[in-house]
Amino acid sequence: MSHQSMLNYVDGKWRPSAAATHLEVLNPATGDSLGQVPLSTAVELDAAAQAAHRAYQQWRHIPPPERIQPLFRLKQLLEEQFEPLARTITRECGKTLNESRGELRRAIENVEVACGIPTMMQGGILENIAPGIDEFVLRQPIGVCAAICPFNFPAMIPFWFLPYAIACGNSVIVKPSERVPLTMQKLFALLEQAGFPPGVVNLINGGKEVVDAILDHPLIPAVSFVGSTAVARYVYSRGAANGKRVQAQGGAKNPVIILPDAELESTTRIVADSAFGCAGQRCLAASVAVLVGEARHTFTEAIADAAASRVTGYGLDEAVQMGPVITPQSRERIEQLIQVGANEGADLLVDGRHPQIKGYESGFFVRPTVLQHVNPAGEIARTEIFGPVLSLIQVATIDEAIQLVNQGQYGNMACLFTSSGAAARQFRHEAEAGNIGINIGVAAPMAFFPFSGWKESFFGTLHGQANHAVEFFTQTKVVVERWPQEWSRQF
Ligand code: NAD
Repeated sequence: MSHQSMLNYVDGKWRPSAAATHLEVLNPATGDSLGQVPLSTAVELDAAAQAAHRAYQQWRHIPPPERIQPLFRLKQLLEEQFEPLARTITRECGKTLNESRGELRRAIENVEVACGIPTMMQGGILENIAPGIDEFVLRQPIGVCAAICPFNFPAMIPFWFLPYAIACGNSVIVKPSERVPLTMQKLFALLEQAGFPPGVVNLINGGKEVVDAILDHPLIPAVSFVGSTAVARYVYSRGAANGKRVQAQGGAKNPVIILPDAELESTTRIVADSAFGCAGQRCLAASVAVLVGEARHTFTEAIADAAASRVTGYGLDEAVQMGPVITPQSRERIEQLIQVGANEGADLLVDGRHPQIKGYESGFFVRPTVLQHVNPAGEIARTEIFGPVLSLIQVATIDEAIQLVNQGQYGNMACLFTSSGAAARQFRHEAEAGNIGINIGVAAPMAFFPFSGWKESFFGTLHGQANHAVEFFTQTKVVVERWPQEWSRQF
């Protein structure tokens, strides 16, 4: 068991923080300490911003084909360190090894896509907008970009931003979640080996003080945030008030609609994976299943069986299908919300509270839970639970189901299970969510598509990943040019 104290990485050097406060980082499956994380200060963030700004002044002039060479090396290092990294994610975040591998694969995919910057960053040109005059648009980097990240994807989410930002010629400061800082320690060791010049990539551990210092810092023009809606709204408002561009992805309450013509076996497996995978701590976790008409007769029993039989335990054990939730406070909040559902009149079809996981009595476990006859207007149907809890709601028609989906405050994901193309087409046209799944339970966009949350799940215009990231991390410059013949020497 290591008891490392997390370091910051600034200007190409690992630095211990001078923070007065350190938090314990716990393995959520065992309750053991994995080390301490400093709550770094605004002064430390300022030093990182200064170093990043100096680095940016040089880095922005490096030609794009050269800027991506360290990213190719990074991709190789990530492949070589794949298994140890996956194990670190599981140890600090709780998800199963396969889930950690999946998240790491998506992180690497973002590095691969960002290697296409010489093509993706191109501008455009129109000759002869007036006689003898040409006009073109360039994309240029914007400066020091900060990424503030949540606990649930310690490797993947920083990589929705970092590879694109640096490939576009910016420098970056990453602030990981203080609950899962280990993965970033390892990833920054690889970024160091990949050979970025000092100050291009920086890591500052911490909490609210660092976030506020980022939002107020005059040398940081762009902020990417992923986390809960309340903090996303705060980050968006404070950053915008200070004249920054901000993309802030927030919480979710994802509905899946199941029509009577859905194929039962695969639908049950896919919905169970969505609701209970990563212990429900995915921003794309299914949280409410809306059962249309006769679907309730077949699906209810099947999903209850899937929930009850899911193997819960320590994610490092390959046989385990679901790990713990992140903290004891999280477990308590989830258990209380389950009780709220019961108090609101729902039936507890499968009750996952207070489980005994042999050998892991000090872990923060909640088993899969299914509530039936949930009141659509009640608290449990509307609140983000962020735990392995699925609420079942019955409606009579697909129109009613879509109406229910669109009443929600969030718009991260909505899914439909059906064998009808016409129903799928209606759904994808009408559903008010940015990521749509048709017979898919976790509609996570690949790295070459933007991660498109809507409504209270997203504040901003440009999302993470792909062409949206390239636009977010660049500013356009339009040039109008005239070169009259008579001004040039004749040859
Ligand atoms: P969180 O909002 O508690 O924390 C996110 C980040 O904000 C952390 O780095 C944290 O240090 C910082 N922070 C927390 N409170 C703050 C405050 N008061 N002021 C300033 N900074 C603060 O989120 P979390 O619990 O780490 O992550 C889970 C949440 O993230 C869920 O709501 C989930 O839906 C959401 N999420 C959304 C997406 C998406 O793509 N929309 C993806 C992953 C997670």
